[in-house]
Amino acid sequence: MSTTSYNPYEIAQQQFDKVAEKIGLDNATRELLRQPLREYHFLIPVHMDDGSVQVFKGFRVQHNDARGPAKGGIRFHPEETIDTVRALSMWMTWKCSVVDIPLGGGKGGIVCDPRNLSEREQEQLCRGYVRQLARNVGPFTDVPAPDVMSSAKHMLWMLDEYETIHGAKYPGFITGKPVGMGGSLGRTEATGFGVIYVLREALKKLEIDITKTTASFQGFGNVARYAVQLYQQLGGTVIAISCWNQNDKRAYTFRKRDGIDYNALIEITDAFGTINKEKAADLGYEVLPGDAWIEQDVDILVPAALENQITIENVNNISKKVKVILEAANGPTTPDADEVIQGRGIFLIPDFLANAGGVTCSYFEQVQCNMNYYWEKDEVLSKLDTKMTSAFNSVYDLSLSKKMNMRDAAYVIAINRVAQAVKSRGWV
Ligand code: NAD
Repeated sequence: MSTTSYNPYEIAQQQFDKVAEKIGLDNATRELLRQPLREYHFLIPVHMDDGSVQVFKGFRVQHNDARGPAKGGIRFHPEETIDTVRALSMWMTWKCSVVDIPLGGGKGGIVCDPRNLSEREQEQLCRGYVRQLARNVGPFTDVPAPDVMSSAKHMLWMLDEYETIHGAKYPGFITGKPVGMGGSLGRTEATGFGVIYVLREALKKLEIDITKTTASFQGFGNVARYAVQLYQQLGGTVIAISCWNQNDKRAYTFRKRDGIDYNALIEITDAFGTINKEKAADLGYEVLPGDAWIEQDVDILVPAALENQITIENVNNISKKVKVILEAANGPTTPDADEVIQGRGIFLIPDFLANAGGVTCSYFEQVQCNMNYYWEKDEVLSKLDTKMTSAFNSVYDLSLSKKMNMRDAAYVIAINRVAQAVKSRGWV
């Protein structure tokens, strides 16, 4: 699903190789961790509303399950590729490890555009996906969740199909379910809120007052909207948000120099995170080209859309004012752009640390499903805050003591834990 020639899987392997070399990882462990343990490729035929049959491609990749069942979302995207799913499954392994939850890494994808499918067609697609995989996933092997363009509604259809096939109730098979149907309170907000918990900690370390900061976001979907909400609640000001416009097949940036009105913007945003361009203009937003989000004179840039968005072609458009890049999306920065960012001394909070709130809350959802006892929202969010803050501090302390950047420090912690698990199990 990359928008350029950058291959996310090669990037994920490059990042891994660099740190594996730095920590002197033995060859067998390197070989085992630099690629997925298992992957499934399959076809999903769907009877469409017009009577035709359309065949969709599906993937599920289990990168590593030494620390616990594989865990990761299922993306719906017309440009989904196996290499994107491989990279994302690998990042899931590091993500679960860096926040120290007992799960491995997996990821799934369907090459489709749910924006062009009816509710019934979406349901058939979800059920078809599970029919192809039902014997290779499950609460103790691999636990899916929502991701780009998939939601709680899709998870419930998938759960229902899984339970029908296996003839029993398995609420722990999938997370991100609707509240009241085995879902956890706080899961919807968890990734976005988690992103802001680590930002809050970073700003404390950098001695920057959050109430005096401004930010520009790319994306206004599941992750970005809750990140924007909490950031503004803590006193920050969002001046620009970019999102994709499906009708025009291009992205736009919406800017309000004195700060966006969150509630008003949500009112004119659809379920896929598209802000209505005409209504935004009526509300006084400047409508700029899609990539304008990266050029804003702000303190904080938050890529929260897709991978490969900060590249060598646009990294030099980042304003001198920017002090923090908060990677809310997975893999938003290419390695060559990363070097420029590190060279400029911008404090970058890496993706698999910054956006680990979603999987952490998914883990809480599994725990609650297993107990069949559900926590209040405050309890969920407070546990999430504790986990994210603690993970941030461990990475920050290591980055200071070993004089390495935050991405490398996060990798060192994550890889060491997984390497220890594969060794303890006697795999290498
Ligand atoms: P989403 O589908 O809800 O929202 C994506 C947003 O990005 C939308 O607003 C869309 O318009 C925008 N977008 C897409 N292409 C764009 C472009 N070229 N320019 C500008 N905007 C564009 O997805 P999401 O769940 O918010 O996920 C966003 C990122 O966060 C992804 O990288 C995903 O893998 C990652 N992530 C998601 C979760 C989660 O819990 N949902 C957890 C961890 C990581």
